[in-house]
Amino acid sequence: MLKIGILGLQGAVREHARAVKDCGAEAIDVKSIEQLEQLDGLILPGGESTTMRRLLDKSGFMEPLRAFAREGKPIFGTCAGLILLAKRLSNQEEAHLELMDITVERNSFGRQKESFEAEIAIAGVAEDKMTAVFIRAPHITEAGENVEVLAKYEGRIVTVREGQFLGCSFHPELTEDNRLTAYFLQMVEEYKMIENKICN
Ligand code: GLN
Repeated sequence: MLKIGILGLQGAVREHARAVKDCGAEAIDVKSIEQLEQLDGLILPGGESTTMRRLLDKSGFMEPLRAFAREGKPIFGTCAGLILLAKRLSNQEEAHLELMDITVERNSFGRQKESFEAEIAIAGVAEDKMTAVFIRAPHITEAGENVEVLAKYEGRIVTVREGQFLGCSFHPELTEDNRLTAYFLQMVEEYKMIENKICN
């Protein structure tokens, strides 16, 4: 069974665990650096990126998370988690993990639209559209040449993949539609297959 960690310092952890379990994998609430070792893939949940960054610094997680990425292990960032993955943030100087070649703008859907649901098509995941829940959501203003744009909403990029990294602006764990989580688990499966080939 695949072991999927959900960074458990802050944010929508329980809901992601439900989605991961519904997709047939084991969900692990990650609160300490040592737990990273047993994981096949990691989800960075939504919440508040500035609070998460403070907690990551306090617990010394930043470098171990970058090392986890250097091993080639898949990471899925949702909403605040997407903000943590970006190499560049358009409305603040300092970025966080700097793993994905994207620029992200925080809180970019305006005050009147603090939270809303939209039907979006996601390439290779939900061609026939799925419901996406946006909560004080960011969007991707620039994607590097190796980044695949999987979904847009009102012309704005809201789902991207760059090799082992997947990111979305919305909260896929808040609906019963688990297709994006299932897509991530497939990325983790593929990573494990490649890893096994190299090791054997
Ligand atoms: N607005 C939050 C931030 O900037 C993200 C919101 C969310 O994760 N739902 O971190």
